[in-house]
Amino acid sequence: MKSLNQMTKEDLKEIKMIVFDVDGVIVPRGTKIKQVGNTTTLQTKIIAPKQIEQIKELYRKGFLINISSGRGLYMLQEMFREILPFVSLTYECGSATWYKGKIHQHINSFERLQDVFFKLKRIAFKNKNVRGFEPKEFIITVHCKKKDQKIEETVQKERGLCTHWNGEAYDVLIKKDQTKALGLQKVMKIFKLKKQNVMAIGDNYNDHELLQASGTPISADKTKIQGKFYVSLQGEFLPADMLMQKILLLKGNKV
Ligand SMILES: [Mg+2]
Repeated sequence: MKSLNQMTKEDLKEIKMIVFDVDGVIVPRGTKIKQVGNTTTLQTKIIAPKQIEQIKELYRKGFLINISSGRGLYMLQEMFREILPFVSLTYECGSATWYKGKIHQHINSFERLQDVFFKLKRIAFKNKNVRGFEPKEFIITVHCKKKDQKIEETVQKERGLCTHWNGEAYDVLIKKDQTKALGLQKVMKIFKLKKQNVMAIGDNYNDHELLQASGTPISADKTKIQGKFYVSLQGEFLPADMLMQKILLLKGNKV
């Protein structure tokens, strides 16, 4: 892996789209959720003004911007409200993409997840480790204080399903078929792009496939994920901030 400092103009020659993971990359990590009975409280983070300007500038330079997250669409729309005209949103781990008000669904997980949802609800009932279920359409997301063996076992028993633990929640998904990589492949079709036209940045294990599906993978946490380049985690800047600074500098901007 090379350090981001070693990126050159040559590395950007074929890049037409930049894909950003959200948590830990373009906003700080962590979602606050509280569920009491039927009342769910979610704290939303909003993208900072500096990142808004950087994304607008990349757009002006001709780059397509794709946001790829495990979060739901409603939340991404809130977070990126100011820059919706300039981005496409791939949500719930590659399940669907919103672009200019149109939704492209990439997978139908309804029949596969319907039963396990009720099983997980039963496990969660009166389980103090479970914080709550984040509202989702295509995946199941259960927030927990720490890893939960019962949840893992229940999902393991379901053929073809898997869990991803991200430090604060489990995503329950269809193994291999419901991934950020699938989402990216579909997005590449929508925009008629090849692998070498795509740069992707992510910070966690669940971004591995996403990064591998891109021609230029950027690791935002080299202890967890491999890339062609890595962004060093020291300092006050978010990884997406550092990457955008570098690209805009190579493209002749001072940002
Ligand atoms: Mg992340």
